[in-house]
This record gives sequence, C-alpha cells and structure tokens, in this order.
Amino acid sequence: MFNQAAVHVLPQTNQLRALHSIIRDKHASQEDFVFYSNRIIRQLLETGMNLLPFEPRLVTTPIGASFDGLQLAVKLCGVSVIRAGESMEPELRAMYPGLRMGKILIQRDKQTKLPDLLYSHLPPDISERHVLLLEPMLATGGSALAAIEVLLKAGVPEEHIIFVNLLAAPVGLKRLLDTHPKLRVVTASVEKELTDQAYMIPGIGDFGDRYFGTAR
Ligand code: URA
Repeated sequence: MFNQAAVHVLPQTNQLRALHSIIRDKHASQEDFVFYSNRIIRQLLETGMNLLPFEPRLVTTPIGASFDGLQLAVKLCGVSVIRAGESMEPELRAMYPGLRMGKILIQRDKQTKLPDLLYSHLPPDISERHVLLLEPMLATGGSALAAIEVLLKAGVPEEHIIFVNLLAAPVGLKRLLDTHPKLRVVTASVEKELTDQAYMIPGIGDFGDRYFGTAR
C-alpha cells in the first residue's frame, strides 16, 4: 500500500459532486466541459498551493491595526504535461500572475508502448523552486513517472513536487507513490479502475479531446 497521507483528495462536497456530474456527462458541451472543469481545477490548485511552506507576514490594515498574516516562503513554478496539463495553466496564471511555467511532452512509443520524452523546457533555476506538476489524468502512471523523472534530473527534490490531478486510477497512484514516496498528490477523485484501453471507470473519456474540442 502506498503512503495514503501523500494523497490529498478534495472534500467530496455536494457542490464538487455537482461539478463532476456536469463534466462526466457524455452529452456535456465543450463550453460547459471547459467552464466546469476550470472550477474544479481552481480548487485543486488552491489545495496544492496550501501544501507549500508559508512564513509570517505582518501587515497594517487601513484602520492602523496589525494583521498577523502569512506569505509564500518558497519560489514556485508550474510545469504542465502537454497536452491535457495545459488546461490547468490559465487558472494557475489567474491565481499567480507572472508565475514561471515549464512544459514537458511525453508520448507513448507505438512499438515499445513505453513513454518517450519528446520535449521539455523548464525554468533554468527550477532546482530552487517548488513545482506544481499539472496533469489532470492519472491512469497507468507511465507518463506521470516520466515527467517526474525529468524534474528530478533537473535537480528538483521529490518532496518539492506536488502532482495536481483531476482524476486518478488507484493503480497509477500506487505506482507513483511506491516509486516516489515523498511526492504529494492533489486530486478531485480516485476512480474505480481502468478499461483495457487505460480509460478510467467511471471516468470522463478523453479529457484532452473534450477540453480542447478535438474529439472525432
Ligand atoms: N486519459 C484520459 O483522457 N482519460 C482517461 O480516462 C485516462 C487517460
């Protein structure tokens, strides 16, 4: 069994369940899919940021009183796994204007079936940053593991990576956290299982196709 404490599942409120019901419905329009996915993505990103270290910040309010507050204590960046991960970028940019963003492109080799790194472009000082790794779908975990490998090779400590995810399959979560026990995962739902084609059940279909409107 993997380190359960490393998995932060959003509170399953009625509101969140209603949002899931809209985007999981196969009849949802692309417009609704994007709008309501973004509402969940915002919650995931806020939860992910809440796992980062904060330090005290004392401010004076307009009436001259002190407010004993907090501020982010570390340098941060986002890294999206192309293509589905890019859906999470606009909400993150809206929350944190000017945030550094990296990209990783991984594709499954048709012959070997293994994930292949095709492209990565990361902030040069990424080893000094905490990373929100953006990947809404975690199925078998192959491409997520390959993306984490890219970050580790670039010098990011495992404990500085927060994997921000919308739907996760138990098998993918187990693989990720057995390999990287110091990783933290934020997700909106742990699904039941995978189909033979590695789609999650009950799932959402092909997230990228539905979000970007490229379904045939
Ligand atoms: N990727 C998707 O888009 N959906 C799944 O169910 C699994 C992987």
